[in-house]
Amino acid sequence: MSVYFVPWNTSNNLLKETERLYDAAGTFDCINEGDLVAVKLHVGELGNPYHVQPIFVHEVVRKIREAGGKPFLTDSNTYYFAQRNNAVDHMNTAQRNGFGTAPFIIADGLKSENYRTVKTKGILSEIEVSGAIAEADAMIVISHCKGHELSGFGGAIKNLGMGCTSRAGKLRQHRTVGLEIDASKCIGCGKCKATCPMGIPEIIEGKAQNTSPLCMRCPMCIEACPTNAIDFVDKPNLSKALASAALGVLSTFKRGKVSYVSFAKDISRYCDCLSNPGEIMMNDIGIFASDSSVSVDAAFLTMADYQVFNEESHVDCMLQVQEAKTLGIEGTLKPAITTV
Ligand code: SF4
Ligand code: SF4
Repeated sequence: MSVYFVPWNTSNNLLKETERLYDAAGTFDCINEGDLVAVKLHVGELGNPYHVQPIFVHEVVRKIREAGGKPFLTDSNTYYFAQRNNAVDHMNTAQRNGFGTAPFIIADGLKSENYRTVKTKGILSEIEVSGAIAEADAMIVISHCKGHELSGFGGAIKNLGMGCTSRAGKLRQHRTVGLEIDASKCIGCGKCKATCPMGIPEIIEGKAQNTSPLCMRCPMCIEACPTNAIDFVDKPNLSKALASAALGVLSTFKRGKVSYVSFAKDISRYCDCLSNPGEIMMNDIGIFASDSSVSVDAAFLTMADYQVFNEESHVDCMLQVQEAKTLGIEGTLKPAITTV
């Protein structure tokens, strides 16, 4: 459960540095000859400039092949309406963003109906794991460390919990968060309804109401409201849901078949799901590798000034990591970090 690290030092050849990192961490020891290996990444929303650069993903693909595995790049469709909402748009976005060295398989299928529902623990009792991930023999999880409006930050646990689940699984997690409309602030302007991709809020007697089971808890109506009448409630529940979902995803793999590489570079205010992820919040840190999602996320938080994310989101970044540990995901909250 150790974490290995190379600093983001562009005086060195970082591609060669990652090779040293992976060798020290044993990143590809989880691969047996002939394994179908999911390379879980986030290709970035169209226009997002901060997702992990393809050149580093290509190197992971090369190393998997060297270890005898059959790599495929993968991600699950989004639950919201953008350029990664179905397999065709998602694959086109991946291609435009430069990911083309291995087959790109959308893990949950054309319209997100390919998933396996598994039992889990914690705030969720079950979760819908994307089919191609549930079927894979091994997985390398490539994460970009950055801020997140609902969970403080996103790293390996979020990449597992949200990134490896179908639209139904994502909705299940997001709906652990509540959404309230303060009638005393609502002026009945209807901007929330006009902005919502599904036109959900109803304006009844001059006040907005939202009782729909289809509400995705995306922030679009919140951002559109001119009087700040709409807000999330119980936001920390999403961090707990991420940990629950991550545990469910890991239950589809044999022990020791998942490894993690996290890039603490271009650490933006918001996540790669946005075309406009906001400004860079701190200096580049480096690249981490570990066989534990808990340890690799804890290592990033140890080296990052994550209070800025806590203040931004009003959620403690450590919560998802602590919850994952509490639920039994292997790893440590205070990992030894070996610089290679
Ligand atoms: S959070 Fe608001 S914008 Fe998003 S689906 Fe729900 S009602 Fe619509
Ligand atoms: S946008 Fe805000 S003020 Fe306007 S109707 Fe919706 S909740 Fe009310």
